[in-house]
Amino acid sequence: MESTRGWAEKEASADPLAVFAKDFLIPEGTLALNGNSLGPPAAAVPIALSNAVRQWSEHLIRGWWDDGWWDAPERVGDRIGRLMGAGPGQVVVGESASVQLFNALTAAVRLVPERRVLIADAGNFPTDRYLAASVARLLGLRLVETSMNDLPGALARHAGQVGAVLCGAVDFRTGELWDVPGLTTAIHQAGGVSVWDLSHAAGAVPVQADAAGVDLAVGCGYKYLSGGPGAPAFLYAARRHHHALDFAVTGWHGHADPFAMSASFVPADGITRARTGTPQILSLLALEAALEPLEAAGMAAVRAKSLRLADYLFALVADLDSVEIVTPRDPHRRGNHVTLRLPDAVAVAESLARRGVIVDERPPDLLRICLNGLYISWTDVYDAVTHLREVLR
Ligand SMILES: *Cc1c(COP(=O)(O)O)cnc(C)c1O
Repeated sequence: MESTRGWAEKEASADPLAVFAKDFLIPEGTLALNGNSLGPPAAAVPIALSNAVRQWSEHLIRGWWDDGWWDAPERVGDRIGRLMGAGPGQVVVGESASVQLFNALTAAVRLVPERRVLIADAGNFPTDRYLAASVARLLGLRLVETSMNDLPGALARHAGQVGAVLCGAVDFRTGELWDVPGLTTAIHQAGGVSVWDLSHAAGAVPVQADAAGVDLAVGCGYKYLSGGPGAPAFLYAARRHHHALDFAVTGWHGHADPFAMSASFVPADGITRARTGTPQILSLLALEAALEPLEAAGMAAVRAKSLRLADYLFALVADLDSVEIVTPRDPHRRGNHVTLRLPDAVAVAESLARRGVIVDERPPDLLRICLNGLYISWTDVYDAVTHLREVLR
């Protein structure tokens, strides 16, 4: 691996995924390196949105049937499921990740109501921690927060009482990827029910949700899935649990016979019971269109290239004395963003932004750089590090 631009150009010209960059709307001269926060729009999105408005204006309420709006939460769910190793009929799309988390967590607790300890990842994204605390208060559970490194220890200490266990698959600060299959097995051995937050994994890491035995999972639609600001989130529930799932946020779309307008809730079969009220169709169709480039490129190929881009970045920053690589180097232990520790990360991110290099920072000293192989190239990485070098000088 070399640190010349010529090497990067050669590598980029032989890259079979290079064509997919054209499927994204990114301003000329801008390096979109924060797809871990908000992925850029796919070119298919404005087309899908204008199609949706046309359907709406031409078919009015018939769009629910004639244009497939009614089935969109399950249809888009199946497509997201394929990216995360979930067989069909186990994922629905809708609501925000926060709402889906509440629903997944309460449903998990209700699967094992006699188990009164809720274990939650102390390094998780704030929303997850707030919801774990709220669900514990609501249902009178004992909340035990633990670092992911000590999760096996926490499971052992509360053996016999462990119920729902909420974890993030990828640490949103450091980019560390946890051992989803191994930890899910450990949770099961302790008698618990796993709830994985895949917000930083979906579209980035081919999590094998079915093979890993994951019980419930949620994730947001606007990071690696590029569904747009406020894109609907998704909820995964393993088929073996469907008959027993009792969601706290129920709605008529999750009813066995929604148009009977009956007085009491009878859950639909399958994952449909995870639907709530009327889904956000415009956003759902935008998210659906955004999946096209990722599906065409293939999750495994995007993951492999993204890992290599990160390796390249590690090599390029190796001689920068003030920069420490926080993300694990082992490809099995990292997600798709790279975190660097350096002084004054906020000022550095601002200087980079003025140069068209869009990254994000976690104050005071962490800089997060997302190298999504779907639309980032070797020359982009080279140029970004060149800018970083100049900014640090
Ligand atoms: C991004 C993210 C969220 C965001 O939740 P919203 O309801 O979409 O705001 C939640 N959890 C994790 C782990 C995230 O990375």
